[in-house]
Amino acid sequence: MKRAYLTFDDGPSSYTDRLVDFLCSKNVPAIFFVHGENMMKEHYFPSIVRAIKKGIVIGNHSLNHNRASEIGFEEQIRQIIEAQKLIDRAYHEAGRDHAPRYFRFPHLDRGCGNAHVIDMATVEEQYRDYVRDLFWEGVRIETKEPPTAGQIELKNSLQKWFIQNGFKKLPTPGVIFPWWVNSELSEAVDSLVTFSTSDWMMGPRHAGKGQLKTTDALKNKIDTDPWLNREDSAHIILMHDDRDPANEQREDLLTITENLVNHMLNSNFTFLEFKET
Ligand SMILES: [Zn+2]
Repeated sequence: MKRAYLTFDDGPSSYTDRLVDFLCSKNVPAIFFVHGENMMKEHYFPSIVRAIKKGIVIGNHSLNHNRASEIGFEEQIRQIIEAQKLIDRAYHEAGRDHAPRYFRFPHLDRGCGNAHVIDMATVEEQYRDYVRDLFWEGVRIETKEPPTAGQIELKNSLQKWFIQNGFKKLPTPGVIFPWWVNSELSEAVDSLVTFSTSDWMMGPRHAGKGQLKTTDALKNKIDTDPWLNREDSAHIILMHDDRDPANEQREDLLTITENLVNHMLNSNFTFLEFKET
């Protein structure tokens, strides 16, 4: 049996209620890292309250989805705080006292730009190609220059801020890949991933730009990933809830999500709950 934690970035969207209903119908737990600006839309906010009531965990994905390395410490913190206020309010409206504090950086830009999600020197050499593909497949990378001292300081300051402000590492026991446990990936307080479905390549903002253009191509990525099909470690899987504006010509991302989750269920995956320790 393969075990995985399912994470969805960028919602809420006009499809969130249906996504929640689909996950509930399959008994699949998940966390949604929500985009604050989307939550501010009056018609979307209730979808998050509803999701909480149905057992979905809500994490913070900032307010405006900007890149940390471009906006800097003060603005990044402001965006995290503003987004968290919305999440706290949604938990309150759902009748829950305490909202969890989990954070995922937009574009996985943790302060050093998305060319440097983590310090590759902390990853053993034989795993570096895989980790590089995990974070940078098809992703916009402006520079491969090493991060500056200022960027490294920004990254470290943000990690420190998370700890001082009650943000926690997402509880994902069972993830024991050697490139995870022995590297910066396991030390990060923000929420990282061990597998990206690359579904964003078929989402409304990027469709057609990435290498993978069909659901079958995404399924093939799942079937052939050298680590994802191992049963000795759990996985943290990245998907997206980002479905506006609808393009009638294209398969919508909800259908793609349903296909991929069903495919994984049929491929002997079990999806795990996020349990606070
Ligand atoms: Zn995002």
